[in-house]
Parts: sequence; structure tokens; C-alpha cells
Amino acid sequence: MIQLSIVIPTYNRAKRLRACLEALRVQTHPASEFEVIVVVDGSTDETAEMLKNFEAPYSLRTIWQNKSGQPNALNRGIREAKGPYCLFLDDDITAAPQLVAEHLQAQRQQSKTVVIGQITLSLPSNGDWYANAFARGWRDHYDLLNQEGTELSWEDCYSGNMSVPREDLLACGGFDVGLVRGFDVELAKRLQKNGCSFVYARNALACQDEQKGFRELSQDAENAGRVDAMLYQQDPFMLSEALGSFAQGSWRKLILHRFLLAINIPPAVLEVLGRIIRQPSRRYSLYSLTQKYCYWRGVRQVMGTTGLWRQLTAGTPILMYHAIGLPDEPAGPFILPVDRFEKHIAWIKRLGYQPISLAQFLEYKQNCLFPPVRSVVITFDDGYADNYSLAYPILCAHNIPVTIFVVSSYLGRKNEWDQGGELAGRPLMSWSQVQELASQGVQIGAHSCLHHRLTEISESEANEEIVGSQKHLESKLGIAINIFAYPYGEHNTTIQNIVQQAGFVASCTADAELNTLISSPFALRRTEIRGNESFARFLLALWTGNAEAFWWVRKHKNNKR
Ligand SMILES: [Zn+2]
Repeated sequence: MIQLSIVIPTYNRAKRLRACLEALRVQTHPASEFEVIVVVDGSTDETAEMLKNFEAPYSLRTIWQNKSGQPNALNRGIREAKGPYCLFLDDDITAAPQLVAEHLQAQRQQSKTVVIGQITLSLPSNGDWYANAFARGWRDHYDLLNQEGTELSWEDCYSGNMSVPREDLLACGGFDVGLVRGFDVELAKRLQKNGCSFVYARNALACQDEQKGFRELSQDAENAGRVDAMLYQQDPFMLSEALGSFAQGSWRKLILHRFLLAINIPPAVLEVLGRIIRQPSRRYSLYSLTQKYCYWRGVRQVMGTTGLWRQLTAGTPILMYHAIGLPDEPAGPFILPVDRFEKHIAWIKRLGYQPISLAQFLEYKQNCLFPPVRSVVITFDDGYADNYSLAYPILCAHNIPVTIFVVSSYLGRKNEWDQGGELAGRPLMSWSQVQELASQGVQIGAHSCLHHRLTEISESEANEEIVGSQKHLESKLGIAINIFAYPYGEHNTTIQNIVQQAGFVASCTADAELNTLISSPFALRRTEIRGNESFARFLLALWTGNAEAFWWVRKHKNNKR
């Protein structure tokens, strides 16, 4: 009785196909329980002769089709399969002896499962530096999957070593024959929609004979960009992590990518540069940069350079203000004079920035839609009375949405936590002022009860600070409080989990970067706008999400409020 059908699409790789079939002869699982279907996609080499003479202990069927692409060949194999599960193997894959047994075991444990096996790469001894860096990236990827608790996504589903119940494949119509690349992850996304889940079987081990060098690998990256862009245009929920991540990460990388794309440098120049570099870590950084650059060239080929392209290469800065001072009050890191705040708002408008609310940003994110180009979010922390009397009238006059994170136990009182600091004794808004702002459409978020450093108190105390402030605000204001900001920007996974479990939909840090559609909602990036810093830094914050970009010394690194 056939339990598993192994589908191997092949094109002009007789020698490697032979090695692939040989490896399946020595499986630990009984050969009578699986079959192998080789779908020959119009090969013109000695594949026919090799297959004719190949003696297999398992049932081996060969199907010939005129060259019509790998997805077509895979679908043909699915149609012909007799077993309840299909295992897809590339023709350059050498299976470890336990591969079939491991896939079957994982499939039998749970229905509607996509099982992803582990693949190691074997490189030719004369492989170029680029291929070696590619192999390192590959290893890092599987090292991550090998770690306990790593969550799999549809983007990890590589059809080189992957099994799926046949009925689920038929139910969702098999692979998309219109795609030259990425047809496996696209299928995985549809399988997920149909209720399938993903399981990683690290012992379902196989080795891929990788022969590609710089030219093919960089071309693959460009194709991946093209496919991701096309899939996204068909359905925004097909947004891949790579496509959503242009503005993610440090400002240095962001500027470098923007620069490379602007001058449109040929990728081969970067490869030549890599031959000169000797230090392995620098070489690897150059490889990562080149792969990303090639990927984005592919995206641009599909999207052009206007509209959506500009949106997805933009990123959204979330600005963080604290107190606003009267014109005669000295400026400080956390006190920005009101006339300068007015200037910031005027320039946000003048430069064509589009202020959106935090709620709007989260809505874009949830729907996988890119916010407008030059979108910006404005937030205030702590809830000082001057936010009500000085900042709000300016924002209101310009019709700019704002979010204010308040410290619930201190409302109507003064700042008592900033002992000896410039904000000590500064009055906070009263409950009625907060209520009035909320009724005018200002989004109110929680910023703990007592402004403790959440990472330095016990878990139960942190829970009280987070959940307590939410309940307090909800009961007094009569509105839902679903966003949080970490006091002093301090957070870790435990704190993030508490915030998530309390029912908040998002939380803001004080880590300076731009936000993208793939930013973690419980670690949104924010850029502190300090009262004692130059206007140029404010412009940098808008552009790069980091007011300290280009300033090499981080003076206030550990000085957050
Ligand atoms: Zn604060």
C-alpha cells in the first residue's frame, strides 16, 4: 500500500537526478510503502536512457511532458500520485536515509500539515566567494529553524524538501503555473488559508548540490523581488517579509540602499568589490547588501519608480515629544519651547508630510497596505498639562491627529518620578482635561500607573503597572485603551507578552528607527524629539527615523523619560 508519493520534477540534470534516485534506494522506511514519480519537463540530455536503466526497489514511474515549467511538472505529479501524501524533492537533492520515515511520521501526527524538511548545501570546491556567503546565509536560516520554538511562516516553505497531504493540494488547485519562482511559498500561503499549518522536521534531512555562482544567485534574488512584487499587487496579504522591510533597521543601511538604487550601480561591481575584501564578516555584509539590492531592483522592475514603489521604500517615523514649554521657559531635553513646536508642525506641512494617527498606521499595517509617502505619527509621553494647553491647540488648528500616553496614577498631580530631573514637579493633565481631549478625537494610550522601569520590577508588579493603568483609564474615561508606551522605552519579551495578553493591540518603544508593515506591533519604533537639539536633527528624524543619524556620539543614549 503506497503511503507517500515522492514527486521529482527534472530538467536536463540526468547525473544529479540519478544521485537523487540512488539516495531513495536506501531509505529506512520500507520501499513498498512509497512511490517515486519523476516528471521530466522536456529534458534533451541522457535522462531518458538513465531512467530506462535505473533499477529501483521502490515503484518508479516516469512522466514526460513538453517543457512547460516546474509548477506544471509538480502539478502533474500531484495528479498522478497514489499515496495520501505528496513529498516534493528537487532533482539535485540527496535524501538522508530517514527522510521518508520522518516526513510520514510528521504527517501522521497531525492532519492538514505542511512538513518542511531541513536542507544543507554542498558547494563545489571552486565555488566563488558569493556562493560561499550564500551557503552561510542558508546555514543561518536553518540554524534559526533548528532552534526550539521558532515559528514557521509560509515564507519558509521551500518545495525542495516539503510534504503536503494530497487532498489539501487538490483542494487548493496545486501550484500556480503562472509563476517562475516563489510558486512554493505562494502555494503555502493558500494552504494556510485553507486551514493547513506548518511543521518543521529537522531530521527529514537532505543535501542540495548547489552549483550556482554570483551570476545565478544575484539573478535569483532579482527574480524573487519581481515575484514578491507581482504577488503583492495581486493580493496585499501576500506581502512577504522582504517586501515589507525596506525601511526596517539602521539608518545607515537605509541610506546605503537608497543611494545604490538611485545610482543604479551594476551588481557585478559589488561582486568585484567582494573579491578585494579579505575579512569574512565584511564580505558577508557585502553579500547581504548585494542580495537585497538585487531583490529591490527586481521589485522596481515590476513597480516602476512612482506610487507604490515610493510608498514601500518610505517607512513611517513615529515622533515622541514630552513637555512643551512657554517661550520664556528654558529648553531642555524633554522640554521643547512652544514656538519651536509650532515650527516643527509648520515644516511637517511645508515638506508635504502627511500626519496620520497611530490607529491609522496600525490599520494600514493590519491590512498589509503601505501608508502614504511621507506619513508621520505624532505622540506625547507622560501627559503633561502643557500638552493640553500649548500643544493641542496648535495640532487642532492644523487638524493633525495625536496620541498621548498618560501615567494613570499621576493624572491631576505632578511628576514625582523624575527626582532631580528637569520634569520633576511638572503638572500633569487632570482627568477632565484628558476626558476632553479624548472626546475631541485625541487617542489616549497607557504609560503605566507609576512610571516604573518595567524591566527592573517583578513580573507581577509589571503586570499591575500595565493592566492596572489600562483598567484605571478605561473605568474613569469610559473608553477602550488599547495602546501602550513603555516608560523610559524599556521593554523585553516578557514585558511585551504581558502587554499583548492584556489586550493591547500595539506598544511603543523609544528605539529610533522607521516603522514598516512588518515591524512588531509590540515594539513600534519611535524617535525622541528633544527640546535642546537643533532643527536639523528634527528633519533627520523625519527622514531616517533617527534624530541622531550622522552624529557619531550618542550623548543621551541612556537618558530617556
Ligand atoms: Zn514617560
